[in-house]
Amino acid sequence: MASKLISVREYTVRAHQREIHTRVFNFICKQCNETTNRETYGPRPLYCERCRPPQPPKRQQLKPAAKAKPRPMTYKSNTDLD
Ligand SMILES: [Zn+2]
Repeated sequence: MASKLISVREYTVRAHQREIHTRVFNFICKQCNETTNRETYGPRPLYCERCRPPQPPKRQQLKPAAKAKPRPMTYKSNTDLD
């Protein structure tokens, strides 16, 4: 594959949503040094699934229902202060 350097202008990108895809990387695990492959969204993984088992997407998302906060109350007094 031919390659060359090109100049890329600096630019900013607005916040947006983008669909990303996983890809399967073939690589050598840093820990057990075995050829393996792994599917990730991000950069090339370093460890195989045996050395670094995939994490569950999110830890317990069930939070105990938050208790209602005490709210400041305004009490009306029956006595008018003139
Ligand atoms: Zn490994």
